[in-house]
Parts: sequence; C-alpha cells; structure tokens
Amino acid sequence: MSTVTKIFGSKVFDDRVMKAKLPAKIYNSLRRTIDEGVDLDIGVANAVASAMKDWAVENGATHYTHWFQPLTGITAEKHDSFISPSPDGGIIMEFSGKELIKGEPDASSFPSGGIRATFEARGYTAWDPTSYAFIKGKTLCIPTAFCSYGGEALDKKTPLLRSMEALNTQALRILRLFGNDAVKCVKTSVGPEQEYFLITKEMYDARPDIRFTGRTLFGAKPPKGQEMDDHYFGVIKPRVAEFMEDLNEELWKLGILAKTEHNEVAPAQHELAPIYTTTNIATDHNQLTMEIMQKVAIRHELVCLLHEKPFAGVNGSGKHNNWSISTDTGANLLSPGATPCENAQFLLFLCAVIKAVDDYQDLLRISVATAGNDHRLGANEAPPAVVSMFLGDELNAILEAIETDTPYVAADKTKMKLGVNVLPKFTRDTTDRNRTSPFAFTGNKFEFRMLGSSNSIACANIMLNAAVAESLKIYADRLEGTEDFETALHEMIKKTIKDHKRIIFNGNGYDDSWIKEATEQRGLLNYRTTADCMPHLLDKKNVEMLTAHKVFSNRELQSREEIMLENYCKTVIIEANTMTDMAKCSYAPAIERYASSIAQNAMFKKSLDATIPCAYEAGIVKRLSVLCDRIANTADELESAVIKLSDAESIDEEAYMIRDTVLVKMAELRAAVDEAETITSKDFWPFPSYADMLFSV
Ligand code: ADP
Ligand code: MG
Repeated sequence: MSTVTKIFGSKVFDDRVMKAKLPAKIYNSLRRTIDEGVDLDIGVANAVASAMKDWAVENGATHYTHWFQPLTGITAEKHDSFISPSPDGGIIMEFSGKELIKGEPDASSFPSGGIRATFEARGYTAWDPTSYAFIKGKTLCIPTAFCSYGGEALDKKTPLLRSMEALNTQALRILRLFGNDAVKCVKTSVGPEQEYFLITKEMYDARPDIRFTGRTLFGAKPPKGQEMDDHYFGVIKPRVAEFMEDLNEELWKLGILAKTEHNEVAPAQHELAPIYTTTNIATDHNQLTMEIMQKVAIRHELVCLLHEKPFAGVNGSGKHNNWSISTDTGANLLSPGATPCENAQFLLFLCAVIKAVDDYQDLLRISVATAGNDHRLGANEAPPAVVSMFLGDELNAILEAIETDTPYVAADKTKMKLGVNVLPKFTRDTTDRNRTSPFAFTGNKFEFRMLGSSNSIACANIMLNAAVAESLKIYADRLEGTEDFETALHEMIKKTIKDHKRIIFNGNGYDDSWIKEATEQRGLLNYRTTADCMPHLLDKKNVEMLTAHKVFSNRELQSREEIMLENYCKTVIIEANTMTDMAKCSYAPAIERYASSIAQNAMFKKSLDATIPCAYEAGIVKRLSVLCDRIANTADELESAVIKLSDAESIDEEAYMIRDTVLVKMAELRAAVDEAETITSKDFWPFPSYADMLFSV
C-alpha cells in the first residue's frame, strides 16, 4: 500500500471504520440515518459513541468536542475530556450516546443577532451524522449543528442542511414527473477551489496591518507585480512545495481529497482544489482546510493569508464553488444526457438554475458579502458585483432555438427538429471556457466564482440550493396537474428562457461596458458593497421564499442581517483604527525624520559653500512636508469619522456611514502615505514594502 492510501482518512471515523467497529445491526441502522435521515434511537447512539470513543482513544485522542460553525469566524469547539472518575479512585474513559448526540456549550460569546437573550445563554449542538467525526490533535471532533434553546439556528450548518432538504424535496417531485421512481434522494455536491497567499512569518510580524486585519492597508505598487504573468502555473518554489506536501498529508489524514495545487496569478498566490463531495461535507472540509492551511504554514515559518485582498492592485483571492445536483443512483442532473427525454429533464434543471440566479441575484450577492470581498469583486481578475451567467455557445444556441421555435443546428451540422416532444439531443459543451463570468456552466456543473477566499461556502450554497428549490417547486406545481405533460414542459422551458435570458451573458465580465449594459439595459442589480446589499436580505420576496422552504425563520433572517452588518462595521473600524495608528505613530514620524535629515544635509552643504545647489533636497523636503501635513490631517478626519459612527441609529445606518465616510477617508490616507513611500529612502521606511512581501518566499 502506498503511504497515501495508508494515511488517507486515517484520522476519520469513516464508513470503513464504522463497518469494522460496529455490530452489523448498529451499522445498518446508522447507515439509514446517514443516507435517508431516519431518526437515530438512543441504543444505537450509545453503541456508536462507545465504538467512536475506543477508536479515538486508540488513535491518541483524550478529549472530544462538538465542532461547529458559528456565524462569524472559521469554526468553534469546546473540549471535554473523556475522563470520568471510577469508584476505585482511578479513571475510566467514557463517552455516551447522549454526549455524542447533544452538547451544551455556553453560547453567550457567539453572535446571535438578538436571538438569544442572556437568560437562555446556553445553546445546544446536535450531531450531524452525515459528516464523519475526525481527530484533530488529541481531540475527537464531532461535526454538529448549533441552535438556541428555542431551536433557532445559530450556525451555518443548520440552514445548509435545511436548504439541501428543500432542494431534495422539490427535485424528487420533478424526477417523478419524468417517470423516475428509483431515485430516493437528491443531493448537491461541491468542489471549492481555494486561493491563498503565502508570505514569510518575518514579513507578517513586521506589518501590523496584516496582523490586525489580514490585509495591507498601505503600500505603494511594487516595481514588478503580476504583469509578466510568470507566476501562474510556474514552477512551485521549494519552500512552498514543502508546505504543500505537508498540507496535503494533513488533509489526507482527515479524509479531505486535496487534489490539485498550483500557483495563482499573483506572486505569492496559490490555489488548492479538492475533489468534490456532498455539499455539507465539502463545507466542513473547506472550513478545516482553511484552519489547517494556517497551522501548517506556521510550521514552515510562513503565514497563510486567506483575506480576499491582501494586496491592493494585485489579484485577490476567491473561492470557486463548483456545484452540481446528483441522485443517489449516480446521475448528475446537470449533465446533458444521451436521449431527448434525458435532455428535456436536463433542460428543465438548467432552466431552474437560470431562473433561480435571475430571481435571486440579490441573495447570491448577499451570500458572498463581506468587507474583504467588497475589495475584490470588480477589481483585478475577479468577477464584478453584478451577477450574470455564462452558458457557452452550444447551450445558448439551443435555448435560442427553443425560444424562437426554430430548428437547432448542432455543431456536427445535423438538424434537430424541435417539436413538442423532441427536445434537442446534444452533448457536453466543447466551446471555450469563460473565466470572467460570476456563474459559469462548465459542462456538467456550475462554477460560482464570487465567493471570497475567507467566506464559508455554506452561505453561497444555502442561497443557491434554496433559490433552485423554489424554481423547481414552481415547475412541479405547474406540471403535476397537467394533462399534456410534454406541451406544458415545453412551454415552461420556453417561458423561463424568455423571462430570464437577461441574466445570461457570454462576453467579458471584467469589461466596464458590461456593467453599463447590465445595469442600464438589462436592469440587473449592482450592489457594490456589503452595506448596499445586506439590507435586501429582508426584502419581502426573499423572506417569503426562504421561510416557505423552511431554510430560515423570520427571526433567523433578521439576526443574520444584523450580524453580517455588524461584522462589516467592526472589520472596517478595526482597519480604520489600525490605519490612524500606523499613520500617526509610524509613517508620519518616519517621513519627518527623513525630511529632516535631507534638510540638514542641505544646510551642511550650504554652510560649506552657499553656491552648492540644493534644489533636489528642497524639492523632496517640500513634497514630503506637504504629504506629511495631508497624512496628519486625513488621519484626524478618519478618526473623527469613526467617532461619528456612534451617532448612527441602526446598524444599517452605521454601515452606510462606513461606506460613505470611513472608507473614503481610508482611501485618501492610504494615497498620501503610498505617495510618500515612493520618494522616501528605504532606510527610513518603517515597514516592509510590497516587493519585500510579495517576493518573500
Ligand atoms: P475544471 O476543468 O472545470 O476546472 P476540474 O475537474 O478541474 O474542472 O474541477 C474543478 C473543481 O470542480 C474540483 O474541485 C472538482 O472536484 C470540482 N467538480 C468536478 N466535477 C464536479 C461536479 N459534478 N460537481 C461539483 N464539483 C465538481
Ligand atoms: Mg478555477
């Protein structure tokens, strides 16, 4: 056995372990819970807990934790030891079914957006048996959902599982209409491609902005950036290669299928792609991947930056959410089939996605909204904040043919007659990939590219699943009662194309002219910032859809809007405070020192001989003095803008103030400091430059 096959999943209580360690009856009943959502009884839970504990202890674990994903931050865990005192004064290692199924962490320090009054500060965690338990360090981690005592979700997993259930319910209705009775369950799958930057620990320690905020708040453009395109798919440097090797090994032990890795567009930027898996497992794995990337980097004296825009003017980091819908019988519902009937079903699912993306553009934008991602969307090599879809030439031609009732001519020139019961037959698209679209069809899956590198993929998939479930529900409601299924189906597909073709755009999404066309001619939404989009989470149509499918309750939605805006405000305020501090206590004094040393040089020269020219010195001193005044004044103004935020009467208003005043002053302050950097001696400059950081590894 190769080492990879030996270590893969070695720290996971996966199906192989369950089969080996559990009595057949227990195993079968657990499998039914995992596969079909059948309730678990306490007897089975006790047996599973006991086997899980024995396995964990054998593998070096001493503690267990209910591992969950709070509304902010990567993941949370509170460790309890397995130890129980025994009557003889010694200890035994214990773990019961009750402890496995339910935990009660003190929830008071996690954001709840007003859901949880302090008197009911204890939330509870509930085991998610569909995602395997694993060992991290010396702790058995049990993936769980996190709820308040009233049953409201305080985490991201609960609504994600609900959204998958909603899509399952509606997709099954559609499959039945196509006479597909064998399918028991429909699930979505995701393969998230994760981008990140690596810099040395030394550089990280020397930059307070990166330490406090995850990104550089100052820094003049380096002489060399990404313009040579020599980094992408270039040779991976030895130190980075060692990091990747180590990272892969850690991820493999946890059963995470890390598969490809390569350099990204910007210097110091890299990407990791796993093999896709069921959405909630992919989400757990992506959270773990982010955590482990950061840990492994430190071992190599490196720091892994997951911020969406660590460096202005260079490519930002995103996460491409490759998403598909598949059945327990192994069919990918977004894969064009071999027969016209299969293709009719494919077209209906495709239309459901088109309709969903158009109807809920706002929810998709909201699902990726953070202060960090606002800097990335629409900047270098990232999709704009306008949501649109790319389908490729062939699918486009097919949709057009259906819309206009004209025959479709396939790429091989065979004519397809479009009748009511003869939807066209076609195969996987062979046209070029479009890399600039926020939402691109890539043959048998969609790639949603707006996610930020630090986002949990849960948010995007919750909205995507829910919106598609809603389209499918509308289709099923219409088709179930119909006498003539094929005509109704054809009309429905046609209507979707007519109503929603504005969302389809196959051109260059990075082009400014597209934004104009999208907003002015097509009426698509362009929410540039988190402050702009987040309040729309509570728009009537969104609340109605999400509550109808039981993905969120009213209160949960209100709490999320509040938490996300609070998080936006806090993030920017920390950035603003870091900036004023760096400007006043480091940059301004350093610039002053340099200006004064030049002024003194000029004086010495003049005292030697009054005719020695000092125009250079005078010019620099003058420019630096003007800039220094500007830096001091702008830093004061920024400080005042932050203080003024306390006048805001709601979190929405505070977010608008941040967008309109604080972020504007931050940009002005940065511009002044960055300009000073270009004319100040490196010996005097207090922090490493962009070139130092980007080429540090
Ligand atoms: P591409 O060539 O389109 O970039 P890759 O095969 O490189 O596709 O895959 C990119 C990511 O998409 C990987 O994480 C992969 O696991 C994932 N992926 C592939 N097929 C699917 C699918 N059917 N559903 C979800 N994700 C998928
Ligand atoms: Mg990609």
